[in-house]
Amino acid sequence: MCGIIAYAGSERAAGILYEGLKKLEYRGYDSAGLSTLGGGRITTVKRVGRVENLAPLLKDAEGCCGIGHTRWATHGEAGSANAHPHEYGPFSIVHNGMIENYAELRAELVALGDAFFSQTDSEVIVHLLGREYSGDLAAALHAVTGRLKGCWAIAALYASFNGFAVARRGSPVLLGRGRRGNFAASDMSALVGFAESCCVLEEDDIALVTAEEIAVFDGAMRPVERPFRPVEGEAGGEDGKGCAHYMLKEIGQNARTMRATCAALASFSRSEELTARLRSADKIVLTGCGTAYNACLIGARLLEWEYGCPVRACIAGEARCDPPRVTRRTVCIAVSQSGETADTLRAALTLREGGAYLVSVTNVGYSAITRVSDMVLPVCAGPEVCVAATKSYIGQLAVFHLISSPRTAASRRALLSSVADRVEELTAEGEYARTIARLCADSRAVFFIGRGADYDVAVEASLKLREVSYIFSAGMPASELKHGTLALVDPTVLSVVIISDGGTAEKCVNAVEQILSRRGKVAVVTTLPRIAESLGGRVDACWLLPCVPAHASAFVTATALQLVAYRAALLLGLDPDKPRNLAKSVTVE
Ligand code: GLU
Repeated sequence: MCGIIAYAGSERAAGILYEGLKKLEYRGYDSAGLSTLGGGRITTVKRVGRVENLAPLLKDAEGCCGIGHTRWATHGEAGSANAHPHEYGPFSIVHNGMIENYAELRAELVALGDAFFSQTDSEVIVHLLGREYSGDLAAALHAVTGRLKGCWAIAALYASFNGFAVARRGSPVLLGRGRRGNFAASDMSALVGFAESCCVLEEDDIALVTAEEIAVFDGAMRPVERPFRPVEGEAGGEDGKGCAHYMLKEIGQNARTMRATCAALASFSRSEELTARLRSADKIVLTGCGTAYNACLIGARLLEWEYGCPVRACIAGEARCDPPRVTRRTVCIAVSQSGETADTLRAALTLREGGAYLVSVTNVGYSAITRVSDMVLPVCAGPEVCVAATKSYIGQLAVFHLISSPRTAASRRALLSSVADRVEELTAEGEYARTIARLCADSRAVFFIGRGADYDVAVEASLKLREVSYIFSAGMPASELKHGTLALVDPTVLSVVIISDGGTAEKCVNAVEQILSRRGKVAVVTTLPRIAESLGGRVDACWLLPCVPAHASAFVTATALQLVAYRAALLLGLDPDKPRNLAKSVTVE
């Protein structure tokens, strides 16, 4: 999602900001721009489409300080006029997030005679800044944020100040110190290679940054220190890929993620406390969005088997508006890859306010959700760049497996380690990934079908295919097929049937029979040799996956279907790393 990079230092800002914007590209965006300050003048360049479109314009952007932005439109179409930065007299700003009261503010400013050049909610910020300024950029920005409702990360330039100011509420901002100068960014990956150390701003902090100095103020404008730590992570952008696409690289890291997550939880010092909380819980509520929610579906099954109390998986965007009832004995487990997902954060806070104990499961240790949680469980996937989540889902599943087997933790870790070996055997080059991807690409719609946990995997496999190939797809329980969906089955529709549980396999075979008798296309993905043997010759494709115990089969089946989605995108000529209209780390509500 939208990104910010800002710089004040000794080198030409345009080149540094451009490089920073390239590092932020993976988050998904529709336009990009930057402002630099040189010789007391601000120069702004912005373009719709890729960051590369800015390259020919950079020669005009002078100066050693500036702000840059990749926009993911929320208000106003994705066009050059709406791209950030937005200027007003000697001021320029970039904004991540949404200003909920922008219409009122805009009306007020128009009545005062201001002209607006974009349809965005963000442009009011720069107008207000111009009107509030009376000699101190940080104080003016603080006054402006006092008038805003919504969420923001803002970076601001003023033509007579050789530096920039930043503010945050609800959207992350990190400050970085490096040899070439000082930085601000919305994401640590944009600082890799630029800054050696960084700090995370707290809610409502304001910072004033020059080449020499970083000053941070809290929400009451009192000077505060925020702890600096080393910048970690891999370089994003083309350099970090080392593979045809990030999606392929990251699916290839599924096994490594399982092992790293097992190792981290093996040495987790608060395991007993967590188990005691879960054992005495009156209810466990799991919440997340998108793929993280799909991981919660599997987590809910595993936890309910172990702990016996009611366990409910809730979509975070729904739970925040219509929260489930919680008590002081309820444990809420909030799952977010980035730890910044706005809906998940809000849902988690709502449940915590209701009394629940909040455990977060996240891949980013310094993220917003970790700061509001009673306990943090790490997903050790490493930086995930592809917009479509793959290895982080596998890591989330590993966390759920481990916390749902406290009595047999060591043997569960041994099991996951051997399942990780099987996951490593799967490749996108394999014949079946290609054949099933071809069937998907040639179909009008694709249904992913399963029972029990295979259904949960079906839901995630369907999301993955939709995200990167734009083929209509849905995940559904095999038992539901006859309650409506069979009406859609014909030779142009593919059903991918996942079968990994010997106990319900025959019921799934019944579903296959019903589809075949309506001349629907069928691909079977199974870990059971007998199913492959009986269905192999009768369906369009049958992928026999490595045999693993049913309760851990999701690691294998989900990986296989991630590879299918990846190949389907390639067959359709799409870039799986940058799906249209989607963004990584969804920090707007
Ligand atoms: N709401 C702002 C806009 O639509 C900012 C969106 C973003 O975070 O990129 O321009």
